[in-house]
Amino acid sequence: MDAPLLETRGLRVKYGNVEALHGIDIAARQGEIVSILGANGAGKSTTLRAISGLLRPSGGEIRYDGKPAAGIPAHERVRLGIAQAPEGRRIFGTLTVRENLILGAFTRTDKEEIAASAAWIYKLFPVLEARRLQLAGTLSGGEQQMLAIGRALMAKPRVLLLDEPSLGLAPLLVKAIFRTLREINEQTGVTVVLVEQNARAALKLAHRGYVMEVGRIVLEGPAATLASDPKVQAAYLGGKTGA
Ligand code: ATP
Repeated sequence: MDAPLLETRGLRVKYGNVEALHGIDIAARQGEIVSILGANGAGKSTTLRAISGLLRPSGGEIRYDGKPAAGIPAHERVRLGIAQAPEGRRIFGTLTVRENLILGAFTRTDKEEIAASAAWIYKLFPVLEARRLQLAGTLSGGEQQMLAIGRALMAKPRVLLLDEPSLGLAPLLVKAIFRTLREINEQTGVTVVLVEQNARAALKLAHRGYVMEVGRIVLEGPAATLASDPKVQAAYLGGKTGA
């Protein structure tokens, strides 16, 4: 495999005295969509938050673009190209859709380029354009998710970290959002690290995947191989013919 753009090696994270990640090795190449699957509490969000610099590892390392990321603060990681769309659509509810998008571009200065990015995001998610002057807090769950993704894209990232974009959304909406994620990946070559409990949707979109259980990676491989693995089917896909 080519040198990965993003990599964790033996990553450990503790909350107080309790270790939540017991040595995680994941890697994502330029342009790859990698999914991290696992049940509630497996440590998926913790992994993403360590990569984006919101949590400090207690061991191991995170490497980005061939260099260790240790000591680089979260906002600087965004500048370097790592942007996260947070779980629970943590957008700014009292600002408009447009203002939320502009805030996502805090690392950039060229006004014309920022406007071009916003225009591109409105093309990807036309409903955001229709609601650009509306307060973000009044959007539906799916629209807020689109805005969270759009805001992360405004940083023009090389790596897009997504925490449960399907959370709480109806199946048709999940399909639409995941289709757009594929389009974004194909148009820009952005590397995507996608954390999901919805294994079915995630494995359809991803090139490769990892399965986490209580702070460890227990399986990894091409998405199609994972999707046909009997253990993955039993635990995460609701059996062969499941939902
Ligand atoms: P979910 O889908 O529910 O977010 P997850 O796989 O993302 O699950 P994490 O949120 O990373 O899991 O949690 C991993 C472990 O760390 C769990 O045991 C959780 O209880 C614990 N944990 C997470 N956040 C904290 C925190 N702020 N303080 C203490 N323990 C935490």
